[in-house]
Amino acid sequence: MLGSPDAPDASHVPNGIGPTGGPLRPCVELTGVERHYRLGDEVVRALDGVDLSVRYGEHVAVVGISGSGKSTLLQILGCIESPTAGRYRLDGADVGELSESRLAEVRNRRIGFVFQSFHLLPRATATRNVELPLVYAGVAPRERRARALEALSEVGLSDRARHHPEQLSGGQRQRVAIARALVTDPALLLADEPTGNLDARTGAEVLDLFDSLRSPERALIMVTHDSALARRAQRLVALRGGRVAYDGDPAGCPEDLLHA
Ligand code: ADP
Ligand code: MG
Repeated sequence: MLGSPDAPDASHVPNGIGPTGGPLRPCVELTGVERHYRLGDEVVRALDGVDLSVRYGEHVAVVGISGSGKSTLLQILGCIESPTAGRYRLDGADVGELSESRLAEVRNRRIGFVFQSFHLLPRATATRNVELPLVYAGVAPRERRARALEALSEVGLSDRARHHPEQLSGGQRQRVAIARALVTDPALLLADEPTGNLDARTGAEVLDLFDSLRSPERALIMVTHDSALARRAQRLVALRGGRVAYDGDPAGCPEDLLHA
């Protein structure tokens, strides 16, 4: 069950409070989440008790120095890793209780991932790249072609549908990757350093695009190490040593937490 049809429009309201004053439904809820890695005799606590709730319609930026647990957090949110302890609810369902096949379905249909290095297939056109998640989901060719073109149009790339990645600029490649993440109409969009390979101006344009894609049916959680980009987020979460050290308005975040 994705966002309910009568969910209030969150596109211009901070912190997921709807225009009627009612809060939007939680999309993700992490409670006491830990993720430990064993490294020889040592146990690394990549996440060390994370509580985090993000509602539909929210856009959250995650910051923290290298090794603070940002990628681990995204991997747990993306159902790629599972917590060592604690609970993860996605759209109200306890992810820890899902079967392996249901989990694969959730990863494919409910979650869209955008990576720093785009991860596009070089020999495939933009349309084909965007179609791929629908191929895995078993959607018929005609429908997936139509939906891929629609997603490309959403990111402003209708006129590049037949181009291959090498024929596109970095910013355009990332737009294709965003279209691919959106094509399944996911509840949760995750982005790990999506502007990391782009120059400042193109990076800002990609963030403008994310802003324009805000929807009460979706939440966006984005890792960034660019403090200027983090400052423009609606809500900022800073990690330190696998814990949430700050969660709130970017304006109130201590400087030392913002810088890598
Ligand atoms: P960030 O993305 O903020 O740089 P990560 O989530 O990648 O941080 O890593 C957090 C901590 O967990 C680091 O100390 C890292 O070395 C450790 N870590 C991450 N993944 C693994 C792994 N697969 N095996 C062992 N240690 C890991
Ligand atoms: Mg990382």
